[in-house]
Amino acid sequence: MAAPVGQRLSGKRAVVFGLAKSGLSALRLLEREGARLAALDNRTEAELGPLAAELRARGVALHPGPTPDGLLREADLVVVSPGVPLALPELRDAEAAGVEVIGEVELASRFLPEVPFVGITGTNGKSTTTALTGALFQAAGRRAFVGGNLGLPLSEAALSSTPYDVHVVELSSFQLEGIRSVRVNAAALLNLTPDHLDRYPSHAAYGEAKARILLAQAQGDVAVANARDAAVTALASRTRGTRWLFSSQPGSGDVDEGAVADGEGGFLLRTAGAEGRFVLRNRALRGRHNLENAMAAALLAHASGLSLSDIQRGLDAYPGLPHRLELVRELEGVEWVNDSKATNVDSTLVALAAFPANVWLIAGGKGKGASYAPMVDASRGRVKAVLTVGQDAPVLAEAYAGVLPVHACGTLEGAVRFARENARAGDVVLLSPACASFDQFRSFEHRGDTFKALVGALR
Ligand code: ADP
Repeated sequence: MAAPVGQRLSGKRAVVFGLAKSGLSALRLLEREGARLAALDNRTEAELGPLAAELRARGVALHPGPTPDGLLREADLVVVSPGVPLALPELRDAEAAGVEVIGEVELASRFLPEVPFVGITGTNGKSTTTALTGALFQAAGRRAFVGGNLGLPLSEAALSSTPYDVHVVELSSFQLEGIRSVRVNAAALLNLTPDHLDRYPSHAAYGEAKARILLAQAQGDVAVANARDAAVTALASRTRGTRWLFSSQPGSGDVDEGAVADGEGGFLLRTAGAEGRFVLRNRALRGRHNLENAMAAALLAHASGLSLSDIQRGLDAYPGLPHRLELVRELEGVEWVNDSKATNVDSTLVALAAFPANVWLIAGGKGKGASYAPMVDASRGRVKAVLTVGQDAPVLAEAYAGVLPVHACGTLEGAVRFARENARAGDVVLLSPACASFDQFRSFEHRGDTFKALVGALR
């Protein structure tokens, strides 16, 4: 909120580096502000396709392929897409020459009205917590922008003709690297597990990127963090605002102000100004991971002024995100659940933990080489049988051999047919593949949509 609203860009030379979704939105925002535009993308002219001609027709000086010498150094402002590492020599060089190099979120934030800015980061649960926080505001009748790394780029909020009451923004670590003065009034650090070590030299460096969400916090702002992870709570204490923790451990003494699981599926919220109890009866929020996401979302909404009763109403109304423990259908007492987003073993473990028993697990696809042993352990007592699909089916069959029945179904269609014939009332058919989808599908979304269509057609 402290970021200057607007910036004189008329006639300034601005370069957008990277022309995916957020780069294109940034370009439109800069265009509206009257900047002289150039754009860079490492794709070739042919790879850019019709976009190249379209941008040139709009007066953008387009440079496909390698960055031309001097282009960045001569700019007034460079806006970098999250896919482009800020450590590139040409960007370092431009910065050294005094050029302002920022990310798309930073640019957008300079053109937003002064309304609460809620930011969410972490390794897992960002999209869920962002969508849920947005839903809490929307259920209370607020016009909430929900986007960032998920869905619409933040520049779209700045381009909107009707201003929003609140901005709820998912921030990846790459996006956070590009922020300079964004004041995140309510920030969440959900968790921090090894990830993106291809782009960060160390786990600590990855944590530093995440901590940038607190960069411009001030007194009165709130940093929400997971009490389970000491590294996360330590990062959160860097805030100049107030730190609120959440814990899925009932009775946790770590939480002074914040939220704690009540041991009955819900949680207690306690801050200097309020105290309340929340029930989680929404099936879109099953599992301990979603209890954590719900506590974080409730604290963010509370920090931004929503009443406790509005928060409870929003928790009940949240429709869930597709492909994440999505309840597709209930048919003759059997629940069919689409968790196609689970493209690795860790995510399938999270899904299994949400169902105590009677699961028919559909798994397999393009494996990532990780051991399935933790999944086999977690399946004991919960899973009735494993229905394998795709390339890694034999590897799964070997892992489960002698522990649980495995049925090689080959395809999703085969697995759905098998489950329909064998599942009984009270059972859950869970697609949580623990594998990527590329052996049989275009994407995890395509896999999940295929599953939903098959389940929808069951009689
Ligand atoms: P992100 O946007 O960070 O990738 P999502 O909300 O899309 O996160 O969730 C992706 C997957 O991460 C889920 O399918 C689930 O397996 C797992 N997950 C979600 N929330 C959490 C959490 N709070 N802690 C650990 N794992 C989680």
